[in-house]
Amino acid sequence: MPELPELEALVLRLRPRLLGQTLTNLEVHRPVVLRNLLAEPEDVLVGRRVTDIQRRGKLLLLQLKDLWLVTHFMLAGTLVWPEEGELPRSRDYYTLSFGNAGAIRYYDPRGMGKTYLTRDLALVPGLAQMAPDALSEELTLDVFLQRLRSCPGEIKGVLTHERVAAGIGNAYADEILFCAGIYPFAKANRLTPAQKEQLYGAMRSVLPDRVSFLLEHWPPDMDLHWREGLQVHRRRGEPCPRCGTPISEINVAKRPTNFCRNCQPGLLIRN
Ligand SMILES: [Zn+2]
Repeated sequence: MPELPELEALVLRLRPRLLGQTLTNLEVHRPVVLRNLLAEPEDVLVGRRVTDIQRRGKLLLLQLKDLWLVTHFMLAGTLVWPEEGELPRSRDYYTLSFGNAGAIRYYDPRGMGKTYLTRDLALVPGLAQMAPDALSEELTLDVFLQRLRSCPGEIKGVLTHERVAAGIGNAYADEILFCAGIYPFAKANRLTPAQKEQLYGAMRSVLPDRVSFLLEHWPPDMDLHWREGLQVHRRRGEPCPRCGTPISEINVAKRPTNFCRNCQPGLLIRN
């Protein structure tokens, strides 16, 4: 699933390309992904200029004057950049064309993602209840500690369910916990004050560092599922970059958690 760093890097790359451009065509190849929350047909978008491009947590927000296109890519969705006249494939869902500025196509092999077309962001499921963004100024250390206090359960789950901060999923939870030296299955409410502070610091360094890495190394297709250069996530058996111990993997509900047993010591206690 694309997480905060991919979305942030995407926004930074899209702004110079699309801000101020006019949407010249919207083609829906398959319904399902594009959810029109307006009383009007979706072609009401055509002829409007892109006035803003933002991110909230793992969501991409494209503003076209008074209308918004809000995309949650879910597990497998991504954007592709078709050449003029290039026909859609079977898992392409819609194409937004911007004249000479090119086109964006939504591709999703699982078809689980959603793009909401709305005038009112409060209508987008989950958006109003979202925790503060992991990189927002609003999420100070005090606010983070306060939110963490009300979270029982294992720290990895607390992070991936976005209970304290929005934008973190399976991959960057592993990276943040490795950076903080915290065992992923430790109970959140049993972390020491020092560990909680380390966790906050790790979150505030791992995510922006990854955005910088993407801006430098991301292949031109900007595949939102590109995961090169991570420290531990999906690196089972490879040496820990800090101590050389082979990276461990534990699968819960088919989702891998990768960590170093030496740098992130702990005991798996499930109850
Ligand atoms: Zn290690």
